[in-house]
Amino acid sequence: MWIPACSTGSSSEPMPKAVVVQDAALAPYAAHEGQSRGRRNPEPVAAYRGEYQRDRDRIVHSTAFRRLVYKTQVFVNHEGDLYRTRLTHSLEVAQIARTAARALRLNEGLVEAISLAHDLGHTPFGHAGQDALNDCMRDYGGFEHNLQSLRVVDKLEYRYPDFHGLNLTFETREGILKHCSVRNARELGDVGERFLQRRQPGLEAQLANIADAIAYNNHDVDDGLRAGLLDVEQLREEPMFEEQYAAASARYPGLERRRLIYETIRRMINQVVTDLIDATAGRLRELAPASIEDIRACEQPVVAFSETTHQQHQSLKRFLMKNLYKHEKVRKMTDEARAMLQHLFRSYFGRPIEMPEEFTALALGGDDARRARTVADYIAGMTDRYAIAEYRRLA
Ligand code: MG
Repeated sequence: MWIPACSTGSSSEPMPKAVVVQDAALAPYAAHEGQSRGRRNPEPVAAYRGEYQRDRDRIVHSTAFRRLVYKTQVFVNHEGDLYRTRLTHSLEVAQIARTAARALRLNEGLVEAISLAHDLGHTPFGHAGQDALNDCMRDYGGFEHNLQSLRVVDKLEYRYPDFHGLNLTFETREGILKHCSVRNARELGDVGERFLQRRQPGLEAQLANIADAIAYNNHDVDDGLRAGLLDVEQLREEPMFEEQYAAASARYPGLERRRLIYETIRRMINQVVTDLIDATAGRLRELAPASIEDIRACEQPVVAFSETTHQQHQSLKRFLMKNLYKHEKVRKMTDEARAMLQHLFRSYFGRPIEMPEEFTALALGGDDARRARTVADYIAGMTDRYAIAEYRRLA
């Protein structure tokens, strides 16, 4: 069920002039603010900002966003100051997505809002944290970080007097929810619909999703090399790396190692983003969609690499899975993280009073499922260092 469009408040309030101008410059199949499906709670328009720009601003002001700086991407925050965190990862996703959005005449404001919000639901300690919490929540509907990102913006930010959450537009929420089980989709209403009907989200959502993969594939190569868990010779077996490494080495013979790696990664990002824009533009020319609804009706995503780049990108992803994410040293960290989160879950579930007052009240005010969900929300919001401090307190 859709919630009727109401983003522009009452119909007597015109959109800000800047938004009218922006919409006119977009491709017909982009997300136009004038056609937004709106916010769940109607609000008057802002004088100088468009609706997606307001979404982005609310995301940046949120508590969950500030916590991203102390959350693990692959390496725990205290392992070194130069590794990516969820925050710097999200910024990299946003800049990649904005470049492609501008080239394809899509809505840059929307793609930025989705990119900055996409990891808000991540637990401390990256995927290990999510897997641990999912195990703990097995009897209570499970835990999935992507769904949690939506839960953060829909419910868990308590800042505005008139509603819980950030009251974001439908299009930003649609983009945040990248995947979803059929059971959860049924419960979610409007944003869940496309998973039941096997339809696509708008192009901005598709773009933010693929920009996420481009960002982590490349920065994890950099972080993995910096940590000494990957080596260049091994990476040269990956065609995507080898092609750019060879080109950079030929262009700058004798370049010092660190700069050569930066130059290789810079070229890799440029190559995949260029391929993504060209391949997507070609697909759009063929499909000639007249509106965002034509995009939503497609069976396959429209924003995608060419076949060759897709294969190389997937190959690099598999390489990182095997050699970095499953590396003995990373696994040692993830095993510790799993044990810590499981201990935290058991402690709070057994003694909700160990959580802050508002969480205690929520946990004690319902059945076991509600208690478990409250504990999961509390733990998911933690930074790595806060989870470690709580683990020591409760151990
Ligand atoms: Mg991400």
